[in-house]
Amino acid sequence: MPGPALDTLRTVLAANGYPEFRERLRRSGCARCALAADRQHIVVDRGNPDAAILAVGEAPGASEDAAGIAFCGRAGKMLDDLFAAAGLSTDDHLLIVNVVKCRPPGNRAPHRDEAARCRPFLERQFALSPARLVALMGVTALRHFAPDRAKGPLGAQVGRFFRLPDWPGHEFVTLYHPAAILYNRSLEPIAREHVRALAARVGEQTRPEFSGISQ
Ligand code: SF4
Repeated sequence: MPGPALDTLRTVLAANGYPEFRERLRRSGCARCALAADRQHIVVDRGNPDAAILAVGEAPGASEDAAGIAFCGRAGKMLDDLFAAAGLSTDDHLLIVNVVKCRPPGNRAPHRDEAARCRPFLERQFALSPARLVALMGVTALRHFAPDRAKGPLGAQVGRFFRLPDWPGHEFVTLYHPAAILYNRSLEPIAREHVRALAARVGEQTRPEFSGISQ
């Protein structure tokens, strides 16, 4: 007989479409990993499930855990600003998710086993999203998808577009995490260039909803 963790997984993954998936995961009470112990909310996402960009961060922080919304604190405001300057709205043109959906204590990086336990939910987000451009925000997100690329300095990876054999339908780009930009404001000009390049990549697509994006 399946245990409660497997039941949770099956129930959430059986959702019919993204909105139902989002609600099922939010209400699931998931305890598949140790991060369940201290969280206030399961933070599934923020933004538009039909967006052309899927942005992946590390984990919810304190503001996100309290509100149950991804990237709603100071780092989220920085993200909003970076994309607005490139002609994109984070609420309309992005679906923003995290590698793990529950806040790690003290805002530490999620452990590998925690990320692995949460991975089926992230994979379902990829499957249910039409986005083919994936912005990996920060080294933890990069390490989760492309560990070899995360071994060197992050500065050598940010702004570079690449593809991965395990994700043949997607194109990835690494961005500085907005919290890192808040911590080190000298990163902001180059971070703005990276987001502009990502917006231009979206503009190259022929999706009608992006026909009005300024470049
Ligand atoms: S981080 Fe993911 S796997 Fe762990 S308890 Fe939260 S939702 Fe479940």
